[in-house]
Amino acid sequence: MTTPLSQDTSISAPRGLCILGSTGSIGTQTLDIVRLFPERFRVRALTAGSNADMLIEQARTFAPDCVVLADTSQLHVVEDALRDTGIEVLGGEDGLCAAATWEGVETVVAAVVGFAGLSPVLAAVRTGATVALANKETLVVAGALVNAQARAHGSTLIPVDSEHSAIFQCLVGEHPDAVESLTLTASGGPFRTRPRETFDRITPAEALDHPNWSMGAKITIDSATMMNKGLEVIEAHWLFDLAADAIDVLVHPQSIVHSLVTFVDGSTKAQLGVPDMKVPIQYALTYPDRWPAPHERLDWSTLSQLDFELPDLEKFPCLRLAYEALEAGGTAPAVLNAANEEAVRLFLEEQIRFTDIPRLLEDALGRLSESEAHSYDALVHADAAARRGVLEQARAVLD
Ligand code: NDP
Ligand code: MG
Repeated sequence: MTTPLSQDTSISAPRGLCILGSTGSIGTQTLDIVRLFPERFRVRALTAGSNADMLIEQARTFAPDCVVLADTSQLHVVEDALRDTGIEVLGGEDGLCAAATWEGVETVVAAVVGFAGLSPVLAAVRTGATVALANKETLVVAGALVNAQARAHGSTLIPVDSEHSAIFQCLVGEHPDAVESLTLTASGGPFRTRPRETFDRITPAEALDHPNWSMGAKITIDSATMMNKGLEVIEAHWLFDLAADAIDVLVHPQSIVHSLVTFVDGSTKAQLGVPDMKVPIQYALTYPDRWPAPHERLDWSTLSQLDFELPDLEKFPCLRLAYEALEAGGTAPAVLNAANEEAVRLFLEEQIRFTDIPRLLEDALGRLSESEAHSYDALVHADAAARRGVLEQARAVLD
Protein backbone atom coordinates (compact mmCIF):
# COMPACT_ATOMS: atom_id res chain seq x y z
CA MET A 1 0.00 0.00 0.00
CA THR A 2 1.31 3.46 -0.83
CA THR A 3 1.05 6.08 1.86
CA PRO A 4 1.37 9.55 0.36
CA LEU A 5 0.74 12.18 2.99
CA SER A 6 0.24 15.32 0.90
CA GLN A 7 -3.26 16.70 0.36
CA ASP A 8 -4.02 17.32 -3.31
CA THR A 9 -6.29 20.36 -3.33
CA SER A 10 -5.73 21.29 -6.99
CA ILE A 11 -8.70 21.03 -9.31
CA SER A 12 -7.78 18.29 -11.76
CA ALA A 13 -9.79 16.66 -14.53
CA PRO A 14 -12.96 15.00 -13.19
CA ARG A 15 -12.46 11.39 -12.18
CA GLY A 16 -14.26 8.85 -14.41
CA LEU A 17 -16.55 6.57 -12.41
CA CYS A 18 -18.39 3.34 -13.03
CA ILE A 19 -20.86 2.44 -10.30
CA LEU A 20 -21.75 -1.25 -10.35
CA GLY A 21 -25.00 -1.59 -8.38
CA SER A 22 -25.91 2.11 -8.59
CA THR A 23 -29.54 1.50 -7.54
CA GLY A 24 -28.66 -0.12 -4.20
CA SER A 25 -27.90 1.28 -0.77
CA ILE A 26 -24.16 1.83 -1.45
CA GLY A 27 -24.79 2.81 -5.07
CA THR A 28 -27.27 5.59 -4.26
CA GLN A 29 -25.05 6.91 -1.45
CA THR A 30 -22.13 6.96 -3.91
CA LEU A 31 -24.24 9.13 -6.20
CA ASP A 32 -24.94 11.40 -3.19
CA ILE A 33 -21.18 11.92 -2.95
CA VAL A 34 -21.03 12.69 -6.67
CA ARG A 35 -23.79 15.30 -6.10
CA LEU A 36 -21.60 16.92 -3.42
CA PHE A 37 -18.66 17.24 -5.84
CA PRO A 38 -20.20 17.55 -9.32
CA GLU A 39 -17.06 19.16 -10.77
CA ARG A 40 -14.75 16.43 -9.60
CA PHE A 41 -16.47 13.29 -10.90
CA ARG A 42 -17.72 12.23 -14.30
CA VAL A 43 -20.14 9.30 -14.13
CA ARG A 44 -19.39 7.14 -17.16
CA ALA A 45 -21.32 3.94 -16.39
CA LEU A 46 -24.16 2.88 -14.08
CA THR A 47 -25.52 -0.63 -13.56
CA ALA A 48 -28.55 -2.18 -11.87
CA GLY A 49 -29.93 -5.67 -11.36
CA SER A 50 -33.59 -5.27 -12.30
CA ASN A 51 -34.68 -1.82 -11.10
CA ALA A 52 -35.25 -0.30 -14.55
CA ASP A 53 -37.14 2.77 -13.28
CA MET A 54 -34.42 3.92 -10.89
CA LEU A 55 -31.70 3.25 -13.47
CA ILE A 56 -33.55 5.39 -16.02
CA GLU A 57 -33.93 8.22 -13.48
CA GLN A 58 -30.22 8.03 -12.58
CA ALA A 59 -29.27 8.00 -16.28
CA ARG A 60 -31.30 11.18 -16.89
CA THR A 61 -29.70 12.89 -13.87
CA PHE A 62 -26.06 11.87 -14.34
CA ALA A 63 -25.88 11.42 -18.15
CA PRO A 64 -23.43 8.50 -18.22
CA ASP A 65 -22.04 7.04 -21.46
CA CYS A 66 -23.66 3.70 -20.72
CA VAL A 67 -26.13 1.97 -18.41
CA VAL A 68 -26.54 -1.75 -17.81
CA LEU A 69 -29.48 -3.79 -16.57
CA ALA A 70 -28.37 -7.29 -15.55
CA ASP A 71 -31.91 -8.67 -15.87
CA THR A 72 -32.35 -8.63 -19.64
CA SER A 73 -36.13 -9.23 -19.47
CA GLN A 74 -36.61 -5.54 -18.60
CA LEU A 75 -33.96 -4.19 -20.97
CA HIS A 76 -36.48 -2.92 -23.55
CA VAL A 77 -37.98 -0.61 -20.89
CA VAL A 78 -34.61 1.10 -20.39
CA GLU A 79 -33.87 1.18 -24.13
CA ASP A 80 -37.22 2.81 -24.89
CA ALA A 81 -36.87 5.40 -22.12
CA LEU A 82 -33.32 6.44 -23.07
CA ARG A 83 -33.64 6.27 -26.85
CA ASP A 84 -33.39 10.08 -27.21
CA THR A 85 -30.31 10.44 -24.99
CA GLY A 86 -27.46 8.74 -26.88
CA ILE A 87 -26.71 6.69 -23.76
CA GLU A 88 -25.68 3.15 -24.62
CA VAL A 89 -27.92 0.53 -22.98
CA LEU A 90 -26.51 -2.94 -22.34
CA GLY A 91 -27.71 -6.06 -20.52
CA GLY A 92 -26.53 -9.16 -18.67
CA GLU A 93 -23.18 -10.15 -17.25
CA ASP A 94 -21.36 -9.10 -20.44
CA GLY A 95 -22.89 -5.65 -20.04
CA LEU A 96 -21.65 -5.43 -16.43
CA CYS A 97 -18.12 -6.29 -17.58
CA ALA A 98 -18.34 -3.75 -20.43
CA ALA A 99 -19.39 -1.05 -17.94
CA ALA A 100 -16.54 -1.99 -15.58
CA THR A 101 -14.01 -1.59 -18.39
CA TRP A 102 -15.61 1.44 -20.11
CA GLU A 103 -13.25 3.96 -21.64
CA GLY A 104 -12.45 6.81 -19.29
CA VAL A 105 -13.38 4.88 -16.13
CA GLU A 106 -10.64 5.35 -13.54
CA THR A 107 -12.50 4.17 -10.43
CA VAL A 108 -15.02 1.34 -10.36
CA VAL A 109 -17.31 1.34 -7.33
CA ALA A 110 -18.15 -2.33 -6.76
CA ALA A 111 -21.55 -2.24 -5.04
CA VAL A 112 -23.38 -5.21 -6.54
CA VAL A 113 -24.50 -7.63 -3.84
CA GLY A 114 -23.23 -11.21 -3.84
CA PHE A 115 -21.34 -13.50 -6.21
CA ALA A 116 -22.82 -11.62 -9.20
CA GLY A 117 -20.34 -8.84 -8.44
CA LEU A 118 -17.26 -11.01 -8.99
CA SER A 119 -16.91 -11.10 -12.77
CA PRO A 120 -17.19 -7.29 -13.34
CA VAL A 121 -14.70 -6.70 -10.50
CA LEU A 122 -12.25 -9.12 -12.13
CA ALA A 123 -12.79 -7.34 -15.46
CA ALA A 124 -12.12 -3.95 -13.81
CA VAL A 125 -9.01 -5.20 -12.02
CA ARG A 126 -7.61 -6.48 -15.33
CA THR A 127 -7.72 -2.94 -16.77
CA GLY A 128 -5.62 -1.66 -13.85
CA ALA A 129 -8.51 0.53 -12.59
CA THR A 130 -8.86 1.53 -8.97
CA VAL A 131 -11.66 -0.50 -7.37
CA ALA A 132 -13.61 0.98 -4.46
CA LEU A 133 -14.84 -2.31 -3.06
CA ALA A 134 -18.10 -2.63 -1.16
CA ASN A 135 -18.97 -6.06 -2.59
CA LYS A 136 -17.27 -8.13 0.14
CA GLU A 137 -18.49 -11.41 -1.37
CA THR A 138 -15.98 -10.87 -4.22
CA LEU A 139 -13.01 -11.18 -1.85
CA VAL A 140 -14.65 -13.92 0.22
CA VAL A 141 -15.12 -16.07 -2.87
CA ALA A 142 -12.05 -15.14 -4.89
CA GLY A 143 -9.60 -13.26 -2.68
CA ALA A 144 -6.51 -15.11 -3.99
CA LEU A 145 -7.54 -14.67 -7.63
CA VAL A 146 -8.51 -11.00 -7.30
CA ASN A 147 -5.29 -10.14 -5.44
CA ALA A 148 -3.14 -11.98 -8.00
CA GLN A 149 -4.86 -10.18 -10.87
CA ALA A 150 -4.64 -6.83 -9.11
CA ARG A 151 -0.89 -7.31 -8.61
CA ALA A 152 -0.42 -8.41 -12.22
CA HIS A 153 -2.32 -5.42 -13.65
CA GLY A 154 -1.40 -2.69 -11.15
CA SER A 155 -4.96 -2.31 -9.87
CA THR A 156 -5.58 -0.93 -6.37
CA LEU A 157 -8.43 -2.12 -4.15
CA ILE A 158 -9.73 0.44 -1.69
CA PRO A 159 -12.20 -0.85 0.89
CA VAL A 160 -15.62 0.76 1.29
CA ASP A 161 -16.88 -1.53 4.05
CA SER A 162 -16.77 0.70 7.15
CA GLU A 163 -14.60 -1.66 9.24
CA HIS A 164 -12.07 -2.17 6.46
CA SER A 165 -12.04 1.52 5.62
CA ALA A 166 -11.31 2.17 9.32
CA ILE A 167 -8.38 -0.26 9.24
CA PHE A 168 -7.16 1.16 5.91
CA GLN A 169 -7.22 4.65 7.44
CA CYS A 170 -5.35 3.45 10.56
CA LEU A 171 -2.67 1.92 8.33
CA VAL A 172 -1.83 5.12 6.44
CA GLY A 173 1.84 5.86 7.18
CA GLU A 174 2.44 2.47 8.82
CA HIS A 175 4.68 -0.39 7.66
CA PRO A 176 2.81 -3.70 7.14
CA ASP A 177 5.31 -5.50 9.41
CA ALA A 178 4.35 -3.18 12.27
CA VAL A 179 0.82 -4.63 12.44
CA GLU A 180 0.19 -7.26 15.11
CA SER A 181 -3.57 -7.75 14.88
CA LEU A 182 -6.82 -6.29 13.60
CA THR A 183 -10.03 -5.97 15.59
CA LEU A 184 -13.23 -5.71 13.58
CA THR A 185 -16.07 -4.18 15.54
CA ALA A 186 -19.61 -5.51 15.13
CA SER A 187 -22.88 -3.93 16.21
CA GLY A 188 -24.15 -7.38 17.23
CA GLY A 189 -27.26 -6.82 15.09
CA PRO A 190 -30.88 -6.75 16.25
CA PHE A 191 -30.68 -10.01 18.27
CA ARG A 192 -27.63 -9.33 20.44
CA THR A 193 -29.69 -9.45 23.62
CA ARG A 194 -32.57 -11.67 22.44
CA PRO A 195 -32.64 -15.11 24.13
CA ARG A 196 -31.26 -17.83 21.90
CA GLU A 197 -34.23 -20.16 22.63
CA THR A 198 -36.48 -17.78 20.68
CA PHE A 199 -34.30 -17.60 17.56
CA ASP A 200 -36.35 -20.14 15.60
CA ARG A 201 -39.32 -17.73 15.77
CA ILE A 202 -37.42 -14.76 14.28
CA THR A 203 -39.29 -13.30 11.30
CA PRO A 204 -37.73 -11.63 8.23
CA ALA A 205 -39.27 -8.30 9.32
CA GLU A 206 -37.54 -8.55 12.73
CA ALA A 207 -34.23 -9.51 11.11
CA LEU A 208 -34.48 -6.63 8.62
CA ASP A 209 -34.79 -4.09 11.44
CA HIS A 210 -31.11 -3.24 12.06
CA PRO A 211 -30.44 -0.99 15.08
CA ASN A 212 -27.68 1.23 13.56
CA TRP A 213 -27.35 0.88 9.78
CA SER A 214 -29.78 1.18 6.87
CA MET A 215 -28.56 -1.27 4.19
CA GLY A 216 -29.70 -3.70 1.49
CA ALA A 217 -31.73 -6.74 2.55
CA LYS A 218 -29.00 -9.38 2.14
CA ILE A 219 -26.36 -7.65 4.25
CA THR A 220 -29.00 -6.77 6.86
CA ILE A 221 -29.86 -10.47 7.31
CA ASP A 222 -26.12 -11.24 7.36
CA SER A 223 -25.78 -8.71 10.19
CA ALA A 224 -28.59 -10.41 12.12
CA THR A 225 -26.87 -13.83 11.86
CA MET A 226 -23.42 -12.20 12.28
CA MET A 227 -22.39 -13.90 9.03
CA ASN A 228 -21.63 -10.35 7.89
CA LYS A 229 -18.80 -10.18 10.44
CA GLY A 230 -17.62 -13.61 9.34
CA LEU A 231 -17.51 -12.47 5.71
CA GLU A 232 -15.64 -9.36 6.89
CA VAL A 233 -13.00 -11.47 8.68
CA ILE A 234 -12.31 -13.23 5.37
CA GLU A 235 -12.41 -9.89 3.52
CA ALA A 236 -9.86 -8.47 6.00
CA HIS A 237 -7.60 -11.48 5.50
CA TRP A 238 -7.34 -10.76 1.76
CA LEU A 239 -7.17 -6.98 2.04
CA PHE A 240 -4.55 -6.79 4.78
CA ASP A 241 -2.70 -10.12 4.43
CA LEU A 242 -3.13 -11.31 8.02
CA ALA A 243 -3.87 -14.83 9.25
CA ALA A 244 -7.24 -15.70 10.81
CA ASP A 245 -5.78 -15.77 14.34
CA ALA A 246 -4.63 -12.15 13.96
CA ILE A 247 -8.15 -10.94 13.08
CA ASP A 248 -10.46 -10.56 16.09
CA VAL A 249 -14.08 -9.54 16.39
CA LEU A 250 -15.46 -7.38 19.18
CA VAL A 251 -19.12 -6.52 19.61
CA HIS A 252 -19.58 -2.76 19.99
CA PRO A 253 -23.31 -1.95 20.01
CA GLN A 254 -22.94 1.81 19.36
CA SER A 255 -21.10 1.36 15.99
CA ILE A 256 -18.95 4.44 16.70
CA VAL A 257 -15.52 2.77 16.75
CA HIS A 258 -15.41 1.30 13.24
CA SER A 259 -12.40 -0.97 13.86
CA LEU A 260 -8.96 -1.06 15.47
CA VAL A 261 -5.38 -1.97 14.58
CA THR A 262 -2.90 -3.11 17.24
CA PHE A 263 0.77 -2.62 16.43
CA VAL A 264 3.84 -4.63 17.51
CA ASP A 265 4.84 -1.98 20.09
CA GLY A 266 1.53 -2.37 21.95
CA SER A 267 -0.07 0.77 20.55
CA THR A 268 -3.63 0.60 19.15
CA LYS A 269 -5.21 2.96 16.60
CA ALA A 270 -8.94 3.20 15.92
CA GLN A 271 -11.12 5.17 13.52
CA LEU A 272 -14.35 6.66 14.90
CA GLY A 273 -17.40 8.38 13.48
CA VAL A 274 -21.18 8.25 13.38
CA PRO A 275 -22.51 5.22 11.50
CA ASP A 276 -22.77 6.79 8.01
CA MET A 277 -21.52 4.89 4.94
CA LYS A 278 -21.04 8.13 3.03
CA VAL A 279 -17.82 8.75 4.97
CA PRO A 280 -16.03 5.51 3.94
CA ILE A 281 -17.49 5.75 0.43
CA GLN A 282 -16.11 9.28 0.04
CA TYR A 283 -12.72 8.27 1.46
CA ALA A 284 -12.49 5.41 -1.06
CA LEU A 285 -13.15 7.93 -3.85
CA THR A 286 -10.75 10.62 -2.64
CA TYR A 287 -7.90 8.57 -1.09
CA PRO A 288 -5.20 9.59 -0.33
CA ASP A 289 -6.88 12.99 0.12
CA ARG A 290 -9.74 14.07 2.38
CA TRP A 291 -12.25 16.48 0.92
CA PRO A 292 -14.32 18.78 3.17
CA ALA A 293 -17.89 17.47 3.40
CA PRO A 294 -20.90 18.16 5.62
CA HIS A 295 -21.32 14.59 6.93
CA GLU A 296 -22.57 14.41 10.50
CA ARG A 297 -19.86 14.83 13.16
CA LEU A 298 -19.59 12.86 16.39
CA ASP A 299 -20.90 14.95 19.27
CA TRP A 300 -18.37 14.14 22.00
CA SER A 301 -20.34 16.09 24.59
CA THR A 302 -23.27 13.63 24.39
CA LEU A 303 -21.23 10.49 23.80
CA SER A 304 -21.16 9.16 27.34
CA GLN A 305 -20.24 5.53 26.80
CA LEU A 306 -18.63 3.07 24.40
CA ASP A 307 -19.31 -0.61 25.17
CA PHE A 308 -17.40 -3.68 24.00
CA GLU A 309 -18.02 -7.40 24.53
CA LEU A 310 -16.84 -10.67 23.00
CA PRO A 311 -19.17 -12.21 20.38
CA ASP A 312 -21.29 -15.19 21.48
CA LEU A 313 -20.35 -17.94 19.01
CA GLU A 314 -22.97 -20.34 20.40
CA LYS A 315 -25.69 -17.86 19.62
CA PHE A 316 -24.16 -16.78 16.30
CA PRO A 317 -22.56 -19.93 14.80
CA CYS A 318 -22.17 -18.28 11.36
CA LEU A 319 -19.20 -16.30 12.67
CA ARG A 320 -17.48 -19.51 13.81
CA LEU A 321 -18.21 -21.14 10.42
CA ALA A 322 -16.56 -18.23 8.60
CA TYR A 323 -13.36 -18.65 10.65
CA GLU A 324 -13.46 -22.39 9.87
CA ALA A 325 -13.89 -21.73 6.14
CA LEU A 326 -10.98 -19.28 6.17
CA GLU A 327 -8.78 -21.85 7.93
CA ALA A 328 -9.88 -24.59 5.49
CA GLY A 329 -8.94 -22.36 2.53
CA GLY A 330 -9.37 -23.38 -1.12
CA THR A 331 -12.99 -23.14 -2.22
CA ALA A 332 -14.37 -23.39 1.35
CA PRO A 333 -15.15 -19.63 1.60
CA ALA A 334 -16.82 -19.74 -1.85
CA VAL A 335 -18.97 -22.66 -0.69
CA LEU A 336 -19.84 -20.85 2.53
CA ASN A 337 -20.77 -17.70 0.60
CA ALA A 338 -22.93 -19.50 -1.96
CA ALA A 339 -24.73 -21.51 0.74
CA ASN A 340 -25.31 -18.30 2.67
CA GLU A 341 -26.70 -16.41 -0.33
CA GLU A 342 -29.21 -19.21 -0.94
CA ALA A 343 -30.09 -19.63 2.74
CA VAL A 344 -30.69 -15.89 3.16
CA ARG A 345 -32.93 -15.85 0.08
CA LEU A 346 -34.94 -18.82 1.40
CA PHE A 347 -35.29 -17.15 4.81
CA LEU A 348 -36.49 -13.87 3.23
CA GLU A 349 -39.03 -15.90 1.23
CA GLU A 350 -40.16 -17.46 4.54
CA GLN A 351 -39.28 -20.94 3.32
CA ILE A 352 -36.86 -21.72 6.15
CA ARG A 353 -36.36 -20.54 9.74
CA PHE A 354 -33.65 -18.16 10.94
CA THR A 355 -31.97 -21.05 12.76
CA ASP A 356 -31.87 -23.11 9.54
CA ILE A 357 -29.37 -20.64 8.05
CA PRO A 358 -26.34 -21.81 10.09
CA ARG A 359 -27.50 -25.44 9.81
CA LEU A 360 -27.48 -25.23 6.01
CA LEU A 361 -24.06 -23.54 6.02
CA GLU A 362 -22.55 -26.15 8.33
CA ASP A 363 -23.96 -28.88 6.11
CA ALA A 364 -22.54 -27.23 2.96
CA LEU A 365 -19.07 -26.96 4.51
CA GLY A 366 -19.31 -30.56 5.76
CA ARG A 367 -19.91 -31.84 2.23
CA LEU A 368 -17.05 -29.80 0.83
CA SER A 369 -14.55 -31.62 -1.33
CA GLU A 370 -11.06 -30.16 -1.18
CA SER A 371 -10.22 -27.98 -4.09
CA GLU A 372 -8.00 -25.07 -5.10
CA ALA A 373 -9.55 -21.67 -5.67
CA HIS A 374 -7.14 -20.22 -8.20
CA SER A 375 -9.28 -20.37 -11.32
CA TYR A 376 -12.51 -18.53 -11.97
CA ASP A 377 -14.09 -21.71 -13.37
CA ALA A 378 -13.31 -23.64 -10.17
CA LEU A 379 -15.04 -20.94 -8.15
CA VAL A 380 -18.09 -20.87 -10.42
CA HIS A 381 -18.31 -24.65 -10.09
CA ALA A 382 -17.98 -24.57 -6.28
CA ASP A 383 -20.58 -21.80 -6.08
CA ALA A 384 -23.13 -23.67 -8.23
CA ALA A 385 -22.60 -26.99 -6.42
CA ALA A 386 -23.04 -25.36 -3.00
CA ARG A 387 -26.27 -23.66 -4.12
CA ARG A 388 -27.67 -26.96 -5.40
CA GLY A 389 -26.73 -28.65 -2.13
CA VAL A 390 -28.55 -26.02 -0.08
CA LEU A 391 -31.69 -26.32 -2.17
CA GLU A 392 -31.67 -30.11 -1.79
CA GLN A 393 -31.15 -29.87 1.96
CA ALA A 394 -33.82 -27.19 2.35
CA ARG A 395 -36.27 -29.33 0.38
CA ALA A 396 -35.50 -32.27 2.68
CA VAL A 397 -36.21 -30.04 5.72
CA LEU A 398 -39.48 -28.79 4.19
CA ASP A 399 -40.75 -32.26 3.13
P1 NDP B 1 -28.46 -3.51 -2.23
O1 NDP B 1 -29.25 -4.77 -2.27
O2 NDP B 1 -29.06 -2.30 -1.65
O3 NDP B 1 -27.98 -3.14 -3.72
C1 NDP B 1 -27.41 -4.10 -4.56
C2 NDP B 1 -27.16 -3.53 -5.93
O4 NDP B 1 -26.74 -4.61 -6.80
C3 NDP B 1 -28.40 -2.94 -6.60
O5 NDP B 1 -28.01 -1.95 -7.51
C4 NDP B 1 -28.97 -4.15 -7.35
O6 NDP B 1 -29.81 -3.78 -8.42
C5 NDP B 1 -27.69 -4.77 -7.86
N1 NDP B 1 -27.83 -6.21 -8.12
C6 NDP B 1 -28.46 -7.12 -7.34
N2 NDP B 1 -28.37 -8.35 -7.90
C7 NDP B 1 -27.67 -8.20 -9.04
C8 NDP B 1 -27.24 -9.10 -10.07
N3 NDP B 1 -27.54 -10.40 -10.02
N4 NDP B 1 -26.54 -8.60 -11.10
C9 NDP B 1 -26.24 -7.29 -11.16
N5 NDP B 1 -26.62 -6.38 -10.24
C10 NDP B 1 -27.32 -6.84 -9.19
O7 NDP B 1 -27.08 -3.88 -1.52
P2 NDP B 1 -26.14 -2.92 -0.68
O8 NDP B 1 -25.90 -1.65 -1.41
O9 NDP B 1 -26.57 -2.90 0.73
O10 NDP B 1 -24.79 -3.78 -0.69
C11 NDP B 1 -23.96 -3.88 -1.83
C12 NDP B 1 -22.66 -4.57 -1.42
O11 NDP B 1 -21.98 -3.71 -0.49
C13 NDP B 1 -22.87 -5.89 -0.69
O12 NDP B 1 -21.86 -6.77 -1.05
C14 NDP B 1 -22.76 -5.54 0.78
O13 NDP B 1 -22.28 -6.60 1.57
C15 NDP B 1 -21.73 -4.40 0.73
N6 NDP B 1 -21.82 -3.45 1.83
C16 NDP B 1 -22.96 -2.74 2.01
C17 NDP B 1 -23.08 -1.85 3.06
C18 NDP B 1 -24.31 -0.98 3.23
O14 NDP B 1 -24.31 -0.13 4.11
N7 NDP B 1 -25.34 -1.15 2.46
C19 NDP B 1 -21.99 -1.67 4.04
C20 NDP B 1 -20.82 -2.45 3.73
C21 NDP B 1 -20.75 -3.32 2.67
P3 NDP B 1 -31.44 -3.64 -8.20
O15 NDP B 1 -31.62 -2.40 -7.39
O16 NDP B 1 -31.92 -3.51 -9.58
O17 NDP B 1 -31.85 -4.89 -7.49
MG1 MG C 1 -19.15 -3.66 7.48
